[in-house]
Amino acid sequence: MATSLLRVAPPEELLRPLAVPERLLLGPGPSNVPRRIQAAGGRQLLGHMHPEVLQVMDEIKAGIQYAFQTRNRLTLAISGTGHCAMEAALCNLLEQGDTVLVAINGIWGQRAAEIARRLGANVYELLKPPGKYFTLQDIEQGLVQHKPLVLFITHGESSSGVLQPLEGLGKLCHRHGCLLLVDAVASLGGAPIFMDQQEIDVLYSGSQKVLNAPPGSAPISFSERAREKLLRRKTKPPSFYLDMGLLANYWGCDGEPRRYHHTAPINSFFSLREGLAMLAEIGLESSWERHRANCTQLCQGLLDMGLQLFVEEEKARLPTITTVKVPEGYNWKDITAFLMDNHDIEIAGGLGPTVDKVLRIGLMGCNSTRGNVERVLGALQDALKRCHRSRL
Ligand code: PMP
Repeated sequence: MATSLLRVAPPEELLRPLAVPERLLLGPGPSNVPRRIQAAGGRQLLGHMHPEVLQVMDEIKAGIQYAFQTRNRLTLAISGTGHCAMEAALCNLLEQGDTVLVAINGIWGQRAAEIARRLGANVYELLKPPGKYFTLQDIEQGLVQHKPLVLFITHGESSSGVLQPLEGLGKLCHRHGCLLLVDAVASLGGAPIFMDQQEIDVLYSGSQKVLNAPPGSAPISFSERAREKLLRRKTKPPSFYLDMGLLANYWGCDGEPRRYHHTAPINSFFSLREGLAMLAEIGLESSWERHRANCTQLCQGLLDMGLQLFVEEEKARLPTITTVKVPEGYNWKDITAFLMDNHDIEIAGGLGPTVDKVLRIGLMGCNSTRGNVERVLGALQDALKRCHRSRL
């Protein structure tokens, strides 16, 4: 037998079976994937231009239009995670030198500002401490001072647990000749949002939170105003993959015959379709109500345990992700590790500006149940008894 030319042996670890434990994911996402959505993702592949796949894409579009409450024809799912949709929104809306105002009260505004700077935009930051939201007056001052073409704001600030009110914001932006771009990755399906009625110009989300699908596809929609801005561009968007003109054709949004743009992650689309179908079956209003009720229950339970919530104002609490201050005498890492090791529950520490300050507990989509509220409260009670630093 000829001596092998291979200098790298097959890795031992790949010759063992895949190991994936069962775990309750109550962090800020991803959320657990129900069997129905898992099964959809595990279906046999079809070609990405087969009529059945194009049909699924049309169904996804209709599902996003329902979830976003919009009739925008430029509505589709980006092949990528929430960050990919954020990049798609910014790199299509902005050209070099365009002025953008970014509302920053946590990590997502910071990320949007970073992406916009990389695109060569003229970026102004409107700042609020994490845990607080922006008022219409705050925004108006920024619009008057900086005269931006685009305002970026986060509806569900998952690093701080804040729900940003959107009422009146679209109208205000339009009065000042500015487009409104909203990140709803952590809030879609868990808190009311009405893209058309609230005059939001670009809205995007993710698949792995309330929609309970695996990460990897991201709903996005552009209003007519935003579409006109895309048509007025002097330069092509810097990303071919995320060019909304090309994606619009692939998704059948432009009335032209569909052409190959990229090979869509077809099985992710099957899962996203089922996530959107489950939301449509439950109905947006009862989904919002359920998230609010379980969040209220969780907050009450945390307060009853003597813990302090990070977001003081009740109506500003994000129904999908609750932030609680790390209690005195504890290290948050001990608590998250204790829950993982002893209760098979994931909760998370802070992120960006809330690192070391908070614990984050997510109740999203099918994970938003009374049973899970009780389970996580019980586990936390146990952790508080066992993880106090004086015991170490
Ligand atoms: N925006 C918000 C509000 C988020 O919560 C997240 C995810 N945690 C993202 C954007 C980024 O999404 P992804 O991790 O799917 O790229």
